[in-house]
Amino acid sequence: ESTNAPNFIRNQIRGEIESGQADTIVTRFPPEPNGFLHVGHAKSICLNFGLAEQFGGRCHLRFDDTNPAKEEQAYIDAIKDDIHWLGFEWSGKVRFASDYFDQLYAWARHLVEQGKAYVDDLSPEEIREYRGTLTEPGRPSPYRDRSNDENLDLLERMKNGEYAEGEKVLRARIDMASGNINLRDPILYRIRHASHHQTGDKWKIYPSYDFTHGQSDAIEGITHSICTLEFEDHRPLYDWFLDNLPVPARPRQIEFARLNLNYTLTSKRKLKLLVDEGIVDGWDDPRMPTISGMRRRGYTPAAIRKFCEMIGVTRADGLVDIAMLYHAIRSDLEDNAPRAMCVLKPLKVVLTNVEEGHEEVYEVPGHPAREDMPVRKVPLTRELWIDADDFMEAPPKKFFRLAPGKEVRLRNSYVIRCDEVLKEDNGEIRELHCSIDFDTLGKNPEGRKVKGVIHWVSAERGVPVEVRLYDNLFQVEAPSKEADADFLAHLNPDSLITVQGIAEPSLADAAPESRYQFERVGYFCADRHASRDGHLVFNRTVGLKDGWAR
Ligand code: ATP
Ligand code: MG
Ligand code: MG
Repeated sequence: ESTNAPNFIRNQIRGEIESGQADTIVTRFPPEPNGFLHVGHAKSICLNFGLAEQFGGRCHLRFDDTNPAKEEQAYIDAIKDDIHWLGFEWSGKVRFASDYFDQLYAWARHLVEQGKAYVDDLSPEEIREYRGTLTEPGRPSPYRDRSNDENLDLLERMKNGEYAEGEKVLRARIDMASGNINLRDPILYRIRHASHHQTGDKWKIYPSYDFTHGQSDAIEGITHSICTLEFEDHRPLYDWFLDNLPVPARPRQIEFARLNLNYTLTSKRKLKLLVDEGIVDGWDDPRMPTISGMRRRGYTPAAIRKFCEMIGVTRADGLVDIAMLYHAIRSDLEDNAPRAMCVLKPLKVVLTNVEEGHEEVYEVPGHPAREDMPVRKVPLTRELWIDADDFMEAPPKKFFRLAPGKEVRLRNSYVIRCDEVLKEDNGEIRELHCSIDFDTLGKNPEGRKVKGVIHWVSAERGVPVEVRLYDNLFQVEAPSKEADADFLAHLNPDSLITVQGIAEPSLADAAPESRYQFERVGYFCADRHASRDGHLVFNRTVGLKDGWAR
């Protein structure tokens, strides 16, 4: 899977290994279990697990579970499934930041004993106000100079649940005038009387992200702690904790640009809103950019991994064109999805020179270039369905499909001519009467050219299918940039159009999640939920036309 996309972290690690500066690498993927993973997380997964694979190192899965109010076991399970589905395996057991709560608490006490942390009684609003701004230094809290003994006692009481939420916090004593606001006495512990999915009711205080992450990395022996650019400003704090605590190892934080995709939300919080508001059919709705949504839509793990390789890893923020993702999945399915015929907008054709009850069956390759794929049996009968868009009563000049008095080839079968158009009283077309030229099976007709080829399905033997046509969920290029109240105003009203189609009989037993190219139409995947209930429901993964400009 090599592309020429830049990956500065891979290059850096290769340099470290070649120069003997590093002999093994340990990375980690650290999701918070507060939602399902999305395509941006896929980039991080491919990077962290991919580096470990490439350099013979290890990659841990560690749930960053410091905010019990927003976290759930169901998210933990879904995240594990998604990583496995993408084709990665974490090293050793699943880890949790909460595994380290005892150690983190001991280290918090250590900082207090060293005079490097204190208990603050300011309210959250006051703390924000005292912290200052980019242009204005912060002011010290009136509680900043409590004695170490008093702080130790108060911290213990916080831990024992003697105070209400918001009444007190533990802060590092660093520098209220620092140019980096993250160093202006950051919060280490907050009071939360919440039950935790891993630790139950044991804790009444929970460590902050900043106090947890680097130390967890150190405990696990992570060598390269890779995160997105928003954390660049936190790196001095990450390093401050490692410098001021007796940690067993010295991890390094490296930042890269997060993935932003146009027409796509990559914020768990906003995706959760779509789910909670019932705008989509759950986290794995095929329109969702979640890994499980992409799976249900018909994307393959290989295509997602390829896409993550193509976009590269840099420190330059940008907006990736979703056409590139479509390109990745399309080229995978082009090579690997068997072909089938399915009519989405059925128009009846009666072949007047075929007898009732007559049936002939063609053996058709499953894929034009893949002899390993089983042949399909495609029956032709007197009555067929074609797509209504393949017929025009008064066609323009370059219309090479069916029209009154004109000929077209039925894919894999004969050339037919439209002899008569039958209509309802209201003028709607009811059916076409056509006749076969029996001298055209597998050969060109005599003395004339027939340019058009259309797909079709036997009316007697075809199977009804529900087909869900998906499009982008948003009409604006950067829905993430919209304010919270506004982004829902930019939903695409046509992001899901459901039609009843007729498919060739070989699709009758399509297994959940099997993928096909419906010839001349697009790529489709049997819905993993609906088809389990015995319905034939196909989700459109992507159309046939490649819009990605290289
Ligand atoms: P969100 O903002 O969507 O909630 P998050 O960063 O808060 O994402 P986490 O569960 O903390 O979600 O993310 C786990 C890992 O995935 C982190 O290392 C994070 O940097 C990375 N990650 C999250 N979003 C992206 C993205 N869009 N591109 C690349 N990596 C991402
Ligand atoms: Mg995060
Ligand atoms: Mg988040």
